[in-house]
Amino acid sequence: MFARVIVDAPLPQPLDYRLGDVDEARADLVGRVCVVPLGRRKLTGLIVATSDASALDDSAVRNVERVIDEVPPLPSAWLALTRFAADYYQHAWGELAIPALPPLLRAPPGPRFAASLKRQRAAYSEAPAGDPATAVELSADQRAACTAIDGARGFAPLLLFGVTGSGKTEVYFEAMAQRLAADAAAQVLLLVPEINLTPQLQARLQRRFPGDRLVTLHSGLAAGERNAAWLAAHEGRARIVLGTRLAVFASLPRLALIVVDEEHDPSFKAGDGARYSARDLAVKRAQEEAVPIVLGSATPSLESWARASDARYRLLELPARAADAGAQPSWPQLRTIDLRQHAVQQGLAEPVRQALVETLARGEQSLVFINRRGYAPVVSCEACGWLSGCPQCAVYAAFHKTDGTLRCHHCGWQARVPRACPECGNTDLHAVGHGTQRIEEALRALLPQARVARIDRDSTRRKAAAQTAFDAVHAGEVDVLVGTQMVAKGHDFRRMSLVVVLNCDAQLVAPDFRAPERLFATLLQVAGRAGRAGLASQVLVQTRYPEHPLLAAVARHDFAAFARQQLAERKSAGLPPFVHHALLTAEARTLAAALEFLGCARACLAAAPGLHLYDAVPMPLVKLAGVHRAQLLVESVQRARLQAWLRDWLAAVRALAQDTRPRVRWQIEVDPQQI
Ligand code: ADP
Ligand code: ZN
Ligand code: ZN
Repeated sequence: MFARVIVDAPLPQPLDYRLGDVDEARADLVGRVCVVPLGRRKLTGLIVATSDASALDDSAVRNVERVIDEVPPLPSAWLALTRFAADYYQHAWGELAIPALPPLLRAPPGPRFAASLKRQRAAYSEAPAGDPATAVELSADQRAACTAIDGARGFAPLLLFGVTGSGKTEVYFEAMAQRLAADAAAQVLLLVPEINLTPQLQARLQRRFPGDRLVTLHSGLAAGERNAAWLAAHEGRARIVLGTRLAVFASLPRLALIVVDEEHDPSFKAGDGARYSARDLAVKRAQEEAVPIVLGSATPSLESWARASDARYRLLELPARAADAGAQPSWPQLRTIDLRQHAVQQGLAEPVRQALVETLARGEQSLVFINRRGYAPVVSCEACGWLSGCPQCAVYAAFHKTDGTLRCHHCGWQARVPRACPECGNTDLHAVGHGTQRIEEALRALLPQARVARIDRDSTRRKAAAQTAFDAVHAGEVDVLVGTQMVAKGHDFRRMSLVVVLNCDAQLVAPDFRAPERLFATLLQVAGRAGRAGLASQVLVQTRYPEHPLLAAVARHDFAAFARQQLAERKSAGLPPFVHHALLTAEARTLAAALEFLGCARACLAAAPGLHLYDAVPMPLVKLAGVHRAQLLVESVQRARLQAWLRDWLAAVRALAQDTRPRVRWQIEVDPQQI
């Protein structure tokens, strides 16, 4: 008997090992973690099949060194999911599957393995106890959504479309409760874009399901916490798994329902390694395990929306905000503030300044959203035209006034801001444009008696700082909050009645075809921070393009119309979701070398019918951390054809890279989100 084993290495096929003194009659070998020799190393492997024959020469086959019987085998659906993901995203199966295991199982067990397993299991051994918080009484729309989810048998993708505050989370909870009640061993998986920014959700879950073991899985966990949570899920003790994108690979032997909250969020796409989309894999997983999946959003991804329009996904709608039932709609009014028409002082237009003053006078809170940290994005010398650039990247270095530095937000480079222009010696340097720090300063000057707080990555470097700041806002200890994207997510500020959006113009005119989709989602999300407790509230957007149709659609809260227009445009331009993309990127010491490599890669293999290879071009951020970057886009009308062709092509590209000197690093991204 032979075991076919995958390991964390770029190998095209599983490796064959002899079972040695392992009992061959055992039926439970597939899915077991094991230890195998490879060259002179010993590695963790996963047995993915057994067989009577090996294609290898008899003498070349080595023995499995140890089968780890202390942990139950990985379920077959889990193996199928990781295999699919590896094929689809063009990585070796083991390269994807082994890193998805917890740290405890990623390396061959040491002498303290048994003790450490015992300790990790103890963390979640007993079921918690407590009385469930009473569920809210659901609205008719919420009930209809729950009935649809509850009635789904087998694989059923459902798109739950409802604005922020429409009660989607209550629907998820109810649907989860129904599945957990129907089967005492059932497990549910709830995926969210970001856990650290939404501790409220965890608390709400705990209150609602006090008797069911809840574990969280995200990259911020220490190794021990990750082991304990993973094992609790794998061994069926955890009934609810709340996690970020990596949790899509949690082992859940009794999975009964998957929920993906904020399904449009770009952070479901992994930024490195296999660059998988956890949202897309969650749908695949639901299909594989024959369970329903609920994708929820106020602004669904156009991919999901298109599928709902074709009835491939069932659309469930929550058209009103939950607290509105019968009352006045509490959705904020959106107004554009034309920057060409109004006086602007310190980055704030006159009507915005007025609204901030009035909101403070009423004792209500304001949020100023600007998606740019630091004091100013660039420092300039007006005498000679010098601009503060990052020496390692093709971008400007931002000015941080708090510590007097210039910093590159892409590579982390930093230096003291020069006293005089490095080119001409002029000492009169200017900070150009606005970031969160400068707006904070402007707000303090405008509203000297207000309590102003700033939340961005700089203000929250210490682990608990973000939470402390959010708590202060919730407790009403902050009058004006200025922040980046970090403040847009999840939080439900009860006394917030004014939201100001600064500098969205760059995104209104950005060249990336996904920019409008992302901007629409961001605007609706920040707008959703206001007016939750029934306060009359408004959203002011400073812009030079007040007539832009996107802003008009946001003002009408008309996602459907926006999506229809965008999809029509994408269809006529031949863009996703009507075609499929893969992006090959190359990094080299010079741009010419990166382009040359891609040029050769392009010639490696003829395009299959229906496939189109674009010319190699520099990436928009052409130099990053001293490395020059170029990209080559592959387009196909058919997903399957693209996938098959990519496999052959990348084999040739790999060989090409091995022969290229000086070395070029390459990476493939399937379904890239940024081009
Ligand atoms: P979403 O997830 O769509 O943003 P939530 O489920 O968080 O919405 O609901 C927003 C707020 O409205 C929460 O405070 C929630 O408790 C409340 N809520 C939701 N559904 C109802 C309901 N049927 N009746 C009363 N309050 C509700
Ligand atoms: Zn100068
Ligand atoms: Zn840099």
